[in-house]
Amino acid sequence: MRILVVEDDPDLRRQLDKALTEAGYAVDLAGNGEDGQFLGETEPYDAVVLDLGLPKVDGVTVLKAWRDGGLVFPVIILTARGRWSEKVEGFDAGADDYLTKPFHTEELLARMRALLRRATGHATSAIECGDLRVDTRAARATVSGEPIRLTSHEYKVLAYLMHHRGRVVPRTELVEHIYDQDFDRDSNTIEVFIGRLRRKIGQDRIMTERGLGYRLVDPAETPAQ
Ligand code: CA
Repeated sequence: MRILVVEDDPDLRRQLDKALTEAGYAVDLAGNGEDGQFLGETEPYDAVVLDLGLPKVDGVTVLKAWRDGGLVFPVIILTARGRWSEKVEGFDAGADDYLTKPFHTEELLARMRALLRRATGHATSAIECGDLRVDTRAARATVSGEPIRLTSHEYKVLAYLMHHRGRVVPRTELVEHIYDQDFDRDSNTIEVFIGRLRRKIGQDRIMTERGLGYRLVDPAETPAQ
């Protein structure tokens, strides 16, 4: 899952980058409203953390522009303490949640998980597909209760497929949602990750739909053909 953080305070921006990256997300950063708006309009994010007090273009204006442009990704706004009218304005502009500064990054991560699972139709932070289970809280996967050791990229691929289980995920979409902007993307490496994942979680859990993409399946429900 790929997250955009728009925050002008460099310390907070770094802190959010670190916390979200460690939690298994691909993260892009913007330090002002103009850059943030542009990234939101041009890259396919799964969620956005948006500060409201931003240089160049303020957060509410950025959010309104995104929503007017039909962009529906979930947005958490960051507001200054005591500025209740800012929250109202933010929600009216299309925010899904808010945090008042200062906040604990743990709370931001919990709200992020909640937004992402709501946006993809899951009720809890653990997503299951048969006996394969991904705990998005700990960024860990298990098969029949046995922990599976995954690299951060393997986890990102699996977490994205799990959030979108039940549909075919095109390879290009996978590439766009597991790498951040600065990463040298090579869609061939996706095949490598899928191959390694299959060896770790079981060959029959990720189906290749020729020319379309990948689909996560429960082998108990989907007999081999
Ligand atoms: Ca600010």
